[in-house]
Amino acid sequence: MKKNKLPLFVKILIGMIAGVLVGFIFLSTENASIVTNWIKPWGTIFIRLLKLIAIPLVFVSLVKGISAMTDLKRLSTLGLKTISLYLATTFFAVMLGMGAVSLVKPGNVFSKSESEFYKQKLSSESTLNVPVQERQPMDYIVEMVPDNLFSAAGDNSNMLQIIFVALLVGVAIVVLGAEKTSAFVLVINATEAIVLKIIDFIMQFAPVGVFALLAALVVDFSGDSAMFSALGMYATTVVVCLLFLAFVFYPVLLKIFTKNNIGNYLKAIFPIQLLAFSTSSSSATLPFTMEQVQQKLGISEETASFVLPLGATVNMDGTSCYQAIVVLFIAQIFGIELTIAQYMTVLFLTVLASIGTAGVPGASVVMTVMVMSSVGIPVEGLALILGIDRPLDMLRTVVNVTGDTFVATLVDKK
Ligand code: ASP
Repeated sequence: MKKNKLPLFVKILIGMIAGVLVGFIFLSTENASIVTNWIKPWGTIFIRLLKLIAIPLVFVSLVKGISAMTDLKRLSTLGLKTISLYLATTFFAVMLGMGAVSLVKPGNVFSKSESEFYKQKLSSESTLNVPVQERQPMDYIVEMVPDNLFSAAGDNSNMLQIIFVALLVGVAIVVLGAEKTSAFVLVINATEAIVLKIIDFIMQFAPVGVFALLAALVVDFSGDSAMFSALGMYATTVVVCLLFLAFVFYPVLLKIFTKNNIGNYLKAIFPIQLLAFSTSSSSATLPFTMEQVQQKLGISEETASFVLPLGATVNMDGTSCYQAIVVLFIAQIFGIELTIAQYMTVLFLTVLASIGTAGVPGASVVMTVMVMSSVGIPVEGLALILGIDRPLDMLRTVVNVTGDTFVATLVDKK
């Protein structure tokens, strides 16, 4: 009876801690396979449910968000404000990452011959599980425009395409006016209510889901402790930058630009951060983010349904900061000196790469390939950081969603 009264985030927190403990217990009793075979699947089911609902949610909430803005002027002001804030914070995050990694130089640990040795070793072992394709920056822009509605909706990593279609539909509704489109808007509103109800159901399952995810994580990463210490400096640089963004940068800006109480803000977003941390996915966290900011931060439905679905895919400050660090870290490992022009290329392409990164676990590694190959850094170097990517992914996802709530709060400022 009493247990049911616990707020959801407390239950999620208990699930997380219990998951870590259970993971270690099974690991130490050499029963890791029980976790992998019997516990992990519940985490997978939880993630699948969240992913299942992500595309309908993004689509209906964006169409609804836009069509609710009956006047085009309001739409363009909100749009402009949101996009500018997204870009500004992303640029800042990339510059922070580039500055930190250049200062700390975590990759300058090898002599020239050692760098050469690693380059050879990494390219001969094809441990890299990333499709290495030469992509041009414009390809990402071209691919934002789907050529088939159903294939766009058929793959969660095509979220930008869904956003594109939703924007088109929403703007068409606004231009046509209420009279001609009211039937469709009614359907969208009803669909949204249904989607949100389903999310409610899914979130009841969250404590069990995160329990299973974390138990599995402990087991999956058991053998990597040597790797952890070897890459410690790199990881510390990433972690410090990410924590700075989440707990200093956004709160300080909010303090300056709004009347919000920072304590309340941090308290309200903490459950969102926990879920982002456990799922490593901004898209999976989105449903909860939308609900929570409206209920706990009093952000209007209009703002939330426009700013957040867009932000979950487009605005990834944690990811962009991380990608900048990875690129320069691997350059350092291989002893590659970049020119000023190459630094600028890294800056702009990283911003673009983070926009194109899907809000799913591990997505940014694939996008980093584009940045690295355009400045001639061997992408095989990514194999080095893959081993410890997951915990960093969890943390950068926290920053990604925190950045979205930050922009939503600023945009919603009365
Ligand atoms: N997992 C991140 C997110 O969903 C994306 C990434 O950086 O890989 O926000």
